[in-house]
This record gives sequence, structure tokens and C-alpha cells, in this order.
Amino acid sequence: MATSFWHPQALMSQVQHEEIVIVRGEGSYLWTDDGTRLLDATAGLWYANIGHGDQRVADAVRAQMAELETFHSFGRFASKPNKDICDRIVSLAPLGPDAKVFLGSGGSDAIDSAAKLARRYFTATDRPQKRIIVSRENAYHGLHGFGTSLGWMEPNRIGYGDLDPAVLRASATDADDVEKVIMNAGPEFVAAFFAEPIIGAGGVIFPGEEYLHRVRDLCREHDILFVADEVICGFGRTGEWFASGKYNLDPDMITFAKGVTSGYLPLGGVIVAPKVTKPFWADGSQTWFKHGLTYSGHATCCAAAMANLDVIEQDGLVDRVATLEKPFAEAMQSLSDDPHVIDVRTPAGLLGAFQVETAEQGVKLEAEIMARGILCRKVGDGTSIAYSPPFIITEEEIDRMVDAAAKALKTL
Ligand code: PLP
Repeated sequence: MATSFWHPQALMSQVQHEEIVIVRGEGSYLWTDDGTRLLDATAGLWYANIGHGDQRVADAVRAQMAELETFHSFGRFASKPNKDICDRIVSLAPLGPDAKVFLGSGGSDAIDSAAKLARRYFTATDRPQKRIIVSRENAYHGLHGFGTSLGWMEPNRIGYGDLDPAVLRASATDADDVEKVIMNAGPEFVAAFFAEPIIGAGGVIFPGEEYLHRVRDLCREHDILFVADEVICGFGRTGEWFASGKYNLDPDMITFAKGVTSGYLPLGGVIVAPKVTKPFWADGSQTWFKHGLTYSGHATCCAAAMANLDVIEQDGLVDRVATLEKPFAEAMQSLSDDPHVIDVRTPAGLLGAFQVETAEQGVKLEAEIMARGILCRKVGDGTSIAYSPPFIITEEEIDRMVDAAAKALKTL
């Protein structure tokens, strides 16, 4: 029967005839409806950090739903799980004990919240002319309104007419260019700089700490908010809880999603430093952040996040990522011996990619690797193949993942 499911990010004329239906997940493995077992070397879309089918999270979700599925949090209302998860996130994040957390339901709306909050902050502090947001080539910040404007993977921008005119693109790796873009625009008109500490979907690209520190200092100098988009990096992917802590970025906001629940339920949000919360939270302030979603802080999603963080802590999974960083990088780097491979990038933790010459080779490789029982993912312009396995992956499985890539490269 023809499918009625319109897949996101898919060429439906083709995909409707070649759906892959996943019916079960356990640990690092997935099963399709024809019984094929696949090693999920992508952790879904970089989210299944504790692996699939963990009953501890399922039990917590069931218990929360039976008690109170959710109640909205507009105005004075709160549920216990949304208070608990915000306290916990503040205790883990590198923004100090006075940071606050604004919850949503995923990464794209975290970006919308952060972009609106940046502009609202400058209106609240009598600098309404600060409106421009600078983001980076190859950036991916989700696909809501703001994310579509802030992202610079070209195919995601085409066909929608004018995007937000007050968004400017700067280099992802050259801090001089960022400075030029800010100075040309006039720093007094720039509200924020958005950056993934390690670009994910755009190709697994790390600009280096020097770039990040120089841009952060530039932002400080010109009173521009520095927003670290940690939707991928956050909650352990780099071997520390946050890349902002690992690289000492001291951002004004951190956006998060994915790893906060390992994908068991949708949740995301923004961790906001005291400088930005002040005009809204100070005693006597009459300034609202008039923004929010019906499911901001959905109680069952927050309970899933609490259980997920329990699993990460109890099983020592952030340390595990740090321990696996070296064997993962070494295994990935071995692919550089293949003549088709033009680059291998293993910036941190369990984040890596290797790059070939053409997008056609990328398509073939993805299929050949899958034929060997391993799920990988094409990223960037289609010439890079990313691996970002769950934190529970074993060294033996890392070797198998990379061996499948080596064998697939031989078919080119
Ligand atoms: N920001 C980054 C860095 C991402 O990688 C993503 C998704 O991959 C998003 C934002 C958007 O998140 P979501 O797909 O949950 O809306």
C-alpha cells in the first residue's frame, strides 16, 4: 500500500518507494520490519546517547504519565518535573548556579527562543537597534523560521522567498572574517553570534579553540551575545557535559535538545546566563519574555530527561565517551590510508566524519556501509560520512563500524 507518511527532509518521489521501517531498538542496535539488524552508528540524528530501549527511562515515563501526563507552564503554573530538570541542567551546565532554563520541545524551537530572547534582551536594555544575528557558513540550527535563516547549508534555504534580512553569514573557521562582518555591519547593530562549537550536520567541523575564544572576546568587546548551540554537543557527546565547559567558552546562552532525553521524548531549551536573565527576573521588572509553547516543559518529557540523566550518571557514560575518544579517533583516522579519502575529522568524543571527493561517492558509501549492517549518515555537502555512535558503543563495535567503511571504500 502507498504510504501516507510525508517524511521530513526527504525526496518523496523516491522515498515513498523505498521506506525503511524501524520496528525495534535495543542498546546500539535497531531492527527493520524485514528482520534486518543494524548497528546504529549515528545514534539516530545524534540523539540516542544512552542507546535504544532502556527500560529505566520507559518506566519513568510510564510512572509520570500515570501521575500527571503534563500541565502547561504559562504564567504561574509549573509541574515538578519541569522544575527538577531545570535545576539539574543548571547544576551540570557551565553558566553558574544563577543561570535559568527556558524549556521548549526540541532544538529548532530552542534556536527560535534564543534568537527572540537575544533581540528582546536588547530592547529591554534600551538598545533596540541591536537586531543583527551573525551565524556561520555550514551552520545548521534546525529548520524553524529562525533556524532556516541562521543555517547556511544552502539547500535548506532555497524556495522560501526572503528569509530574516537581519541575519549575516561569517566564516566558520576564520575569526578575522567574523570580525570583518561585525565591523562592516556596525557592532552597535549586532545582537548575537550563534555557533555550534563543533558543526554537526554541516560536516563535523571544529574551528579550533582559538577561533572560538577570539570570537567570544570580540562579542564581549562589542556587547554582542555569544550563543553556543549545543543541540549536538550537549550532555556528553564531546566527553564532557558541555562543549562550552570543555573549551571554556563562557557563552551567554546555550541551546540544547537531543541528548537531554537521548530522544526518548522531545525536549529542548535554552540555558541563559544571569546577564541576560536580569532585565526579566530582577525584582520590580515589568518586562516579559512573551514567548512560549503549549508543551514548554512537558512534564513527561522532563521526567524522561531526568531518567536519562540518571542513566548517564549511574553508568558513567560521559567518562566513557572521554575514554573512547582515542580509540574512536584512531580507528577513524585509519581510513585516511584509502586513496578516495581526502579528510578525516575526529574533533572530540564520539563525533567523527571522513570525506571523499564527490557527493556521488557519498551516496554509494552510505548504501554500501548499510549493506554491511551499519547505519551511518551523509553530512555537509554529501561528501562526508559521519559516525556518532551511542555512548554505550564498545571498542569492538567501533572497529566493525570503521571496517565496514573501509570495505565500502574499496567498492568505489
Ligand atoms: N541545532 C543543531 C546544532 C542541530 O544539530 C539541530 C538538529 O540536528 C538543531 C539545532 C535542530 O534540532 P531539532 O531537529 O530537534 O529541531
